[in-house]
Amino acid sequence: MATEQPFDVVVVGLGAIGSAALYHLAARGARALGLEMFEPGHGFGSSHGHHRMIRKSSNQDDGYVPLAERAFELWSALETESGQELLRQTGEIRLVQPDAAGSKRAQAEALQARGFLEVLDAAEVAERFPGCQLYDDMFATYEADAGFLWSERGIITHVAQARRHGATVRTNTEVTGWQADGDGVRVTTAQGAYVADRLVLTTGPWAAELLNGLELPFRVIRSVNGYFQPERPDRWTTEQGAPNFLLDVAEGSYYGIASVDGIGVKIGRSATEWGTPTTARTIRRSIDDEEIAMMRRALERYLPGAAGSELARITCMCTYTVDDNFIVDRHPACERVLLGCGFSGRGYKFAPTMGEVLADLALDGTTRHTIDFLAATRFQ
Ligand SMILES: Cc1cc2nc3c(=O)[nH]c(=O)nc-3n(C[C@H](O)[C@H](O)[C@H](O)COP(=O)(O)OP(=O)(O)OC[C@H]3O[C@@H](n4cnc5c(N)ncnc54)[C@H](O)[C@@H]3O)c2cc1C
Repeated sequence: MATEQPFDVVVVGLGAIGSAALYHLAARGARALGLEMFEPGHGFGSSHGHHRMIRKSSNQDDGYVPLAERAFELWSALETESGQELLRQTGEIRLVQPDAAGSKRAQAEALQARGFLEVLDAAEVAERFPGCQLYDDMFATYEADAGFLWSERGIITHVAQARRHGATVRTNTEVTGWQADGDGVRVTTAQGAYVADRLVLTTGPWAAELLNGLELPFRVIRSVNGYFQPERPDRWTTEQGAPNFLLDVAEGSYYGIASVDGIGVKIGRSATEWGTPTTARTIRRSIDDEEIAMMRRALERYLPGAAGSELARITCMCTYTVDDNFIVDRHPACERVLLGCGFSGRGYKFAPTMGEVLADLALDGTTRHTIDFLAATRFQ
């Protein structure tokens, strides 16, 4: 088995996070190798289906806010460098069914006070967003900075720019194992072995497979998206100014993106609320009609004019930890190995920041970003 010249860093898995890590490593001058078992932008992991939503506000840990703000900067910089459109700021409307305790309203008002979004009543929504339907005592929020990222294009662009900065990329190359010692890390594939000073593992829903005995509390969840031709393109196309949407309503938590470039209105339901546990090797890719019908019902009730004929349906996977926070850290048993995994149902937007952090950890051993809450050791 051939062994190529040593690299500074090998990145395994060139999905959302790994492609960004490879880019940041190469841009900083490291001799970087990226290994991917499919082609960048493929449809078998967590990052396909055209686009992903991005926003600065967070209903989870506040630690995500600076990471999201940095992500906006880095996506824009990558657009400038590559000449590709990656980020489109369409705004985002959330339709909210209040809870009895009033905590959802209080949370929305707190985010408004911090300048992230506006809280809107039914009359304001009717005037500004006539495609949205509120009932009874519902309210809405609107985050103007939010938008979407072209997700497959983002991965392909990170890989292309990494190559331009000198990275080596091997696609259709599955990593089967790694071993570390005082001299470096040896990474094994069916086609050959590679040696590096550091290894970055960004294998998405396959993350549990290459941890060399480390147990991390992952749950991989099968998730479904439907795409609908809008009946009212004047109300539900991005080209006509339609925003992303979130529904926090009696029927459940839904998210989606208005039709753009004829793709159709995309909708999904929160994977933690409704997705089914699976693994990356055994996921059921077929989709039941009832799964699509459920999403159509939500659109028809709250976003009239959004759901015409069905255009497409896809399955995807989200990887959650028990506390829903990501893992971005050294491997607790091996300081040469960095982990970037467990990116849940909201990780795509953070990809360039996570890539920057992983490059910092691999090359400097430390990062200026605050990532303590993402430590792998928090589960021990
Ligand atoms: C339906 C859906 C909607 C979502 N919506 C949003 C959203 O609106 N906004 C948002 O920010 N996030 C969203 N997310 C979450 C986001 O997409 C994920 O957090 C993110 O894509 C995870 O990226 P990743 O790099 O960890 O995984 P992936 O992109 O899947 O990358 C992992 C890569 O590793 C490769 N790999 C694995 N094992 C090996 C091996 N042994 N050898 C070589 N290569 C290997 C795989 O082929 C793959 O390319 C959504 C997720 C889903 C499923």
